[in-house]
Amino acid sequence: MILAYHRVNPWYDKDALTVSPGVFKRQMEYMLGKGFISDTLEKVFRDNRIFHERYRFCITFDDGFADNLWYALPLLETMGIKPLIFLTAGLIGTEKTLPRYGDPGRDRFLNWNEVVEMLGRGAEFGSHALTHSRLTDMNEEKLRNEIEDPKKIIEDKTGKRVDFFCYPFGDFDERIIGAVRKAGYIGAVVTPGKKDIELTRYTVHRTGIYGHNGLLIFRVKIWRGNKKIEKFY
Ligand SMILES: [Zn+2]
Repeated sequence: MILAYHRVNPWYDKDALTVSPGVFKRQMEYMLGKGFISDTLEKVFRDNRIFHERYRFCITFDDGFADNLWYALPLLETMGIKPLIFLTAGLIGTEKTLPRYGDPGRDRFLNWNEVVEMLGRGAEFGSHALTHSRLTDMNEEKLRNEIEDPKKIIEDKTGKRVDFFCYPFGDFDERIIGAVRKAGYIGAVVTPGKKDIELTRYTVHRTGIYGHNGLLIFRVKIWRGNKKIEKFY
């Protein structure tokens, strides 16, 4: 199964997108303690399936917050877990924060030096579009900028191929999927929640983990996701 996180830090105990370092540690310990083995997204796509019943899991982070480096990576490193971070390339290295936050120190995104550092410490990177905007309203030209440019930018900065895309706000349709495919991504992820989204290579399902999920809800999500194996093409 593929788990989807956003932030790990000790500052926001009421923020759905933030999991505290202590809870994150317990969640990762739970996975390894139950015999789950961490895998890369590349492996999931190569095999065309999400390894629910084989006790495999991937860790992904959306947006590219600096706290992924400060609080998540040190722990994941000690556990041998390699996360994949979906960067919003146009926000990397800027002073911008998301509207729900506002502290330019705590809430900033990674910069490119930090991205390269994380790469050296086992992290991988995907694309979460250029500006974190809704894609379905955009004309063709803007859509190309949002989908093609971040792939090139991240590849230039990291020297690694960027194969995976993550739709901002989970907002996509057939046209968006076509543009993602045409740009050369080999797959894309969604976080369906209660929505019914068909599983394809460009809508691979993740399980969202949020700040208000206690360890009990986390366990329910893990075991619910671990019941079946899902193939996609
Ligand atoms: Zn996002």
